[in-house]
Amino acid sequence: MMKHLLKNHLLLHQQNQQKNNRLRKISVSFLLLLMANLAIAREPENLAIVKHNLVKYHDSGAYMNDIANVIQKALRYLELRVKRGDFQGKPAIVMDIDETALSNYPDLLALNFGGTKAEVQRYEDMGHDDAIPSTLKLFRFAREHHIAVIFITARFAEERKITEENLHKAGYTGFDGLIFRDGKYRTLPAAIYKAETRKQLEQQGYDILLNIGDQKSDLQGGYADESFKLPNPYYFTP
Ligand SMILES: [Mg+2]
Repeated sequence: MMKHLLKNHLLLHQQNQQKNNRLRKISVSFLLLLMANLAIAREPENLAIVKHNLVKYHDSGAYMNDIANVIQKALRYLELRVKRGDFQGKPAIVMDIDETALSNYPDLLALNFGGTKAEVQRYEDMGHDDAIPSTLKLFRFAREHHIAVIFITARFAEERKITEENLHKAGYTGFDGLIFRDGKYRTLPAAIYKAETRKQLEQQGYDILLNIGDQKSDLQGGYADESFKLPNPYYFTP
């Protein structure tokens, strides 16, 4: 009888504990949900202030300085790889173009960090973008050390001529590849297009030592030994 009572007591205790655990889980989920809702419900920063800060970030020199710091790390890494010479094929680096090799900042400012697709395109088609100086330094280092430089851009194939001319004018001469978004990739996210293109390059015998871009979509999906993310608070490319 005593044994039976003890067994019942233990069972009840276990059931209570399971109930408590369930309740605890529910309250944690509720709390997380509440926190997420609060984060969304809070009034976002005023757009005029955001734009003011975007200009300040550029004009103070902080933007180019942040870029230079990342490029410095990329350079140091590349120097190390060159010194070790441990390539798995033809050594290469992959670079993005907009806000990585070339700066569109004057255009972004002229459009007040907005503009329609057609307006953005019209500025891009002027082909007057300046080089980002530290990226050009990295480009030249790679060229001097016989490392192939391949640009993978989300620009469309019809922009080839103007882009090529712009790159040359900005000082990027003697690159090994310039790949544009075309065919099935025109409608796929940039991240998929870029990762699959790097995969194809590796299949062609390249060892991509590093990949550099200003968007996460430039770098996601692997097929590079190292990735370097440059700052870009001005726009987002999925
Ligand atoms: Mg870019």
